[in-house]
Amino acid sequence: MSAPCILILGGSFDPVHTGHVGLAHYCATLLHPDVLRLIPAGQPWQKPELATPATHRMAMLKLAFADCAIPVQFDDQEICRTTPTYTIDTLRALRAELGEKVSIVLAMGADQLINLHTWHQWQQLFDYAHLCVATRPGFLLTQDTPTAEVAREITRRKASAAQLRATPNGLVYLADNLALDVSATTIRQALQQDNNTDELLPRAVLDYIHQHHLYKIN
Ligand code: ATP
Repeated sequence: MSAPCILILGGSFDPVHTGHVGLAHYCATLLHPDVLRLIPAGQPWQKPELATPATHRMAMLKLAFADCAIPVQFDDQEICRTTPTYTIDTLRALRAELGEKVSIVLAMGADQLINLHTWHQWQQLFDYAHLCVATRPGFLLTQDTPTAEVAREITRRKASAAQLRATPNGLVYLADNLALDVSATTIRQALQQDNNTDELLPRAVLDYIHQHHLYKIN
């Protein structure tokens, strides 16, 4: 029997939206993980201060993934960290928790791959996890778009979803069939301007935002 596979999705989730849910479902369809683990960021070191306290972001995350077909875990380790949030630290902690054999797959959108060379200790991510990178409107996903160094790593590590599922870490799968044109930035702007966000947010998340008066300037 093969070792378990855990699919990780981290993010600001400020707020969680249909792009995040779609990305997680898409990667889950490809990888058939045993569990999906969602890890909201504390204070991401590459972004300006988050608009919303972690308790609200976590609550919205739980609403958005309430009906998920696979088991979901909500992990507050980054929220609880008092130092800046580095993905490498999270992956190290996950590997220590889960052991050497488990397949750990970090899901991300193409915007993150293009940015990968700026991540703290990015080369070492592969010592702990695989990457499953999905297309995102506005960001090209080819082996040539990131820096030459990242492109070299992708070429060297490119593999099938089945290979990621069957091994613990070190591979990259480029998933090129997702096209969800939604971002938290546009949603925050739309909410501030009272524009319609029905297609962009799960209904329960939108209700939560209204109940708690989030993303309003006044
Ligand atoms: P912001 O607009 O505030 O920068 P965001 O919409 O990019 O936020 P994050 O919480 O930063 O959302 O994203 C978490 C993860 O989800 C990242 O890996 C990101 O690439 C991915 N992601 C977010 N939206 C999409 C989308 N529409 N399609 C594919 N991946 C996405």
